[in-house]
Amino acid sequence: MSRLTDEQKTPDIIAPSLERRTIDITWTDGHQSSYSFEFLRWSCPCAICRGEGGVPGVLASTHELTPDQTELVEVGPVGNYAMSITWKDGHAAGIYTWEYLRLICPCPICRGQQETGQ
Ligand SMILES: [Zn+2]
Ligand SMILES: [Zn+2]
Repeated sequence: MSRLTDEQKTPDIIAPSLERRTIDITWTDGHQSSYSFEFLRWSCPCAICRGEGGVPGVLASTHELTPDQTELVEVGPVGNYAMSITWKDGHAAGIYTWEYLRLICPCPICRGQQETGQ
């Protein structure tokens, strides 16, 4: 996995939009990322969703999310390294580190980079 510079993994502006159902992040290196709520819920990094110790997480057997699962209630800071998201179904275990978010940036530039990196 490629290493990120401090600028690449430090958010400058974090702008959640309930209207567009996205969280937009502008990073200190000037790059802009836009994460849809669905994408963020599917990317939830917690042990319940992702699995742990060889045990598959709930997302592994999930094909569709309910509206409550992709309805964002609250975004909160976790120290200065991450944010947490509370979803309408009550799930709030996901700690999205800045580094993780930058690595999963769904924009064409980042996707392209990751493809050529394989
Ligand atoms: Zn989760
Ligand atoms: Zn990107």
